[in-house]
Amino acid sequence: MTDNIVNWILLVGACLLCVSFYPIQRLIGQLPKGPLRRRWNDVRALILFFIAGYVSFTYLYWLKKDDNFDLIVPAVFFLGAVLVLFVGTLALETATEIKRISTLQYENITDHLIGIYNRRYLDRKIAEELPRVRRYGLPLSMLLLDIDHFKAVNDNYGHQVGDETLKSLGKLLFKKVRDTDIIARYGGEEIAILALQTPVSDAGDLAERLRRAVETSIMVPADENEKKPAIKITVSIGVTGFDQQVTDHHAFIERADKALYKAKEGGRNRVIVFENTL
Ligand code: GH3
Ligand code: MG
Ligand code: MG
Repeated sequence: MTDNIVNWILLVGACLLCVSFYPIQRLIGQLPKGPLRRRWNDVRALILFFIAGYVSFTYLYWLKKDDNFDLIVPAVFFLGAVLVLFVGTLALETATEIKRISTLQYENITDHLIGIYNRRYLDRKIAEELPRVRRYGLPLSMLLLDIDHFKAVNDNYGHQVGDETLKSLGKLLFKKVRDTDIIARYGGEEIAILALQTPVSDAGDLAERLRRAVETSIMVPADENEKKPAIKITVSIGVTGFDQQVTDHHAFIERADKALYKAKEGGRNRVIVFENTL
């Protein structure tokens, strides 16, 4: 009876060991060439040793050659202990490396002043989305927002106050858009919002809500001690929706830009939705 149970345990254990090889093999394949990959290769070699020890033990157990167990059993346990230590430390190193890479990736697509996405990410996202919306006929819209007379803020209150203004505008807009919307700094004081799954009429309403929210908010509070007044701004917004006339992502942005230009030309602090007649 006990023999039977031991036989089953040994058999299932052998299967588990063989299966454990697969994820390690996949992990090694996904790691970039370098020290981390070499060390995971060492783990693979250790597993092979462990399997060899395990198989020897099983073989001797089945042949009932118990007198060799004194050496084999401690060796298998020792290898098991080394393996656990190795895998534990390597897992930690791998997690640290992944964190380092994702921080780099995050910095690569984020605007460090405002803390929203940068233009590189926006361009990539639009280029990714266009074929999808074209194929499945999904709605997609874009808002391009520019601060009115921002140069005057810098000139009158200094560049630092200008930066503060940009930061609070970013925060305000981020709070007002949906989680699925992509908000990015498009240029100096231009912010773009890519509204996924949003028809142009809804995007126009969103733009109007944002324009009003900016108009009625204080960007930088007054500083009584320094005798600095509160900073308020207005924005102009160009809006466009995707349709079959949009050939590529440049054409899409150009339409939003054209609508924005019209908003500026029309007196600023307004929303203009792109039409072919513009
Ligand atoms: P308009 O209503 O026509 O948009 O006028 P404007 O003054 O906002 O536009 P203009 O293009 O003449 O000036 C944009 C200003 O934005 C000039 C530049 O100094 C400022 N700016 C761009 N990036 C930054 C930034 O990161 N920080 C600060 N403080 N200012 C910036
Ligand atoms: Mg501008
Ligand atoms: Mg401006």
